[in-house]
Amino acid sequence: APAAEPGYLQGLNPAQRDAVLTSDGPVLVLAGAGTGKTAALTARLAHLIATRRAWPSEILAVTFTNKAAREMRERVGRILGEGAEALPWLGTFHAIAAKMLRRHAELVGLQANYTILDTDDQLRLLKQLIVAAGLDEKRWTARALAGLIDRWKNRGWTPHEIDAAESEAFANGRGAELYAAYQARLAAVNACDFGDLLLHMLVILKRHRDVLELYQQRFRYIMVDEYQDTNAAQYLWLRLLAQSHRNICCVGDDDQSIYSWRGAEVANILRFEHDFPGAKTVRLEQNYRSTPHILAAASAVIAHNDSRLGKELWTALEAGERIGVIGVWDGPEEARRVGDEIEALRRGGGSYDQAAILVRAQHQTREFEDRFIAIGLPYRIVGGFRFYERAEIRDALAYLRIVHQPADDLAFERIVNTPKRGLGDKAVARIHQLARAERLPLLLAAARLCDTDELSGAARKSLGRLVGDVARWRDLSSSLPHAELCRQILDESGYTAMLQADRSAESGGRLENLTELARAMEEYETLGGFLEHVSLVMDNDAAESGAKVTIMTIHAAKGLEFDTVFLAGWEEGLFPSQRALDEGGTKSLEEERRLAYVAITRARRRCVILHAANRRIYGQWTSSIPSRFIGELPDDHIDAETTMTGGESLWRAQWSEQTDPFADVGRGTGRGPGWQRAAALGEPAARAGNGARVVEVRASAASFAAKPRADMALGQ
Ligand code: ATP
Ligand code: MG
Repeated sequence: APAAEPGYLQGLNPAQRDAVLTSDGPVLVLAGAGTGKTAALTARLAHLIATRRAWPSEILAVTFTNKAAREMRERVGRILGEGAEALPWLGTFHAIAAKMLRRHAELVGLQANYTILDTDDQLRLLKQLIVAAGLDEKRWTARALAGLIDRWKNRGWTPHEIDAAESEAFANGRGAELYAAYQARLAAVNACDFGDLLLHMLVILKRHRDVLELYQQRFRYIMVDEYQDTNAAQYLWLRLLAQSHRNICCVGDDDQSIYSWRGAEVANILRFEHDFPGAKTVRLEQNYRSTPHILAAASAVIAHNDSRLGKELWTALEAGERIGVIGVWDGPEEARRVGDEIEALRRGGGSYDQAAILVRAQHQTREFEDRFIAIGLPYRIVGGFRFYERAEIRDALAYLRIVHQPADDLAFERIVNTPKRGLGDKAVARIHQLARAERLPLLLAAARLCDTDELSGAARKSLGRLVGDVARWRDLSSSLPHAELCRQILDESGYTAMLQADRSAESGGRLENLTELARAMEEYETLGGFLEHVSLVMDNDAAESGAKVTIMTIHAAKGLEFDTVFLAGWEEGLFPSQRALDEGGTKSLEEERRLAYVAITRARRRCVILHAANRRIYGQWTSSIPSRFIGELPDDHIDAETTMTGGESLWRAQWSEQTDPFADVGRGTGRGPGWQRAAALGEPAARAGNGARVVEVRASAASFAAKPRADMALGQ
């Protein structure tokens, strides 16, 4: 009788129950977004413990983020009531592997107290090895090697497993040799990097039967959420551990695989059924999260992908609102519009907690932050730092501060050796000593030291250059527009070059953030005014707790849900990203489309997609084309609206009669092919006001503001 049924089963549909109650043998739950995969996994965890099939310490449960692990732990705790024991093996792959490795470190030549290197240390070490190998470290950069080694580690390859063809990817075939040298060096200093956590454990499990058996016996049950985003090393590791009891349950959705750039392989889903013959596959088709309009729109978009396993979704929820598609004039208007919508929601009784803004690229958060601070709307940035807190932004700000205020010692300390200019600890300590003794700001002390012969020749030269540069930038600051000054400082200091040489996945985002910083500066009259704004924004960080709107990237939003979701910047070149477009081919485009699917399916009741007709890029207004994904939304499920006809933001631009508005097509925007970024249209009319003739322009973007024709978006 249902009354006797444990609470964690109540309300689950038959397919979910199946996933929960089939506790023995391999199970693969393959289902679309919002169908209750994570819910089923959580119930399964509770079920195993409640029915005493396993002690909490005998269950290995892998989540994609630490936050997800925390949530699952809390939910299981609530289901089982008080006294629910800790789940020692619930966490991310990295957290679990690190915990295991502490116990067996000696088997890979480490001590239990090994350190995990940060990127800086890692790069320094690699650079030494590259130089020691007699290679030109400018041509063969540490960053590139780090990226390569990471890729190998994601595949579970140790140095001797790198074949000649792979090794060819670095320094004419010396990749494997350098990888081996790097691992030896790490062992010598009792350290490992992030990728090693899993790889070392994998090696240990392969080579030491006793350890393997220990864990195979221990983990009676293994569960994995977001299975579609596991990489090869993670898969091999799971397969080894599950071999004995074979009670492994993986849940995932091939349509939500969005981490292939980090080595994730959707093929792991197919491999599962091969490696665990007789595996039971459970399909969940009822979506409990989103309204029919949202679900239909998401399904229609993802249907454009070819490589899919394919599945059906339905929902019993009420139709609700159609997806809103809003075309705005520019980025600031986008932020304004979203802010207004959120305030309206709140007036209607909604909570800030239940709204989220999802962006494709980190730098997009800045305009929202600035707007929300201006109107006092509480927000939080998840899965990344708030814009002005990011390392590269703080570095850039430190340069600007020292130029603006030469006695700013904190700024000086931050930049004195960033990028690296060969100033050792001794040189820096000497600057501090002199500054203290003479009561001078660090910059002045540094200038003095350069006039003595206390420093080594090389240190003196590079410090002298920095001091001279700062003085020169200071002079320039009175004549050059400050955004321009910012760009120049970043270039001349070597900061931009440092990021450009960086081949890691984040470096592109960092450069974009710096571009965004310069863009933000353009809105302020003076450098001082801008810096003041920033300190106010930073101060706001200590903000009180309470309900807040969430701003985050789509990647970070995986697995989450909100009543209302705003999807910003759906424009060609932004989403799909320029990188995906440049790469061509369907592979990267399909991954972008999966991201679009993840984005839309985060919404419970209301989903609003925005696209701006103009983005300010490198100080120039360029018009943009709505994303092709907007064109893929079915008419029946959207309400398109554009604010660009009449009203405050007039759909027009200022240009003289002689000017061909499309003369700049394809030139110099730095954002890729001209068909994507049409003409520089000049300032919006509202800002012109200098008596110049204002002419209504029927710009390219206007004609398909709401729905781009696929052929145009594709540039054919
Ligand atoms: P994603 O693919 O985005 O990770 P998911 O498949 O993991 O989604 P869940 O997050 O587990 O889906 O569930 C989505 C929503 O549906 C949650 O709010 C959850 O509480 C609810 N839900 C899940 N199963 C049921 C059910 N049987 N009855 C009612 N609501 C449910
Ligand atoms: Mg989930």
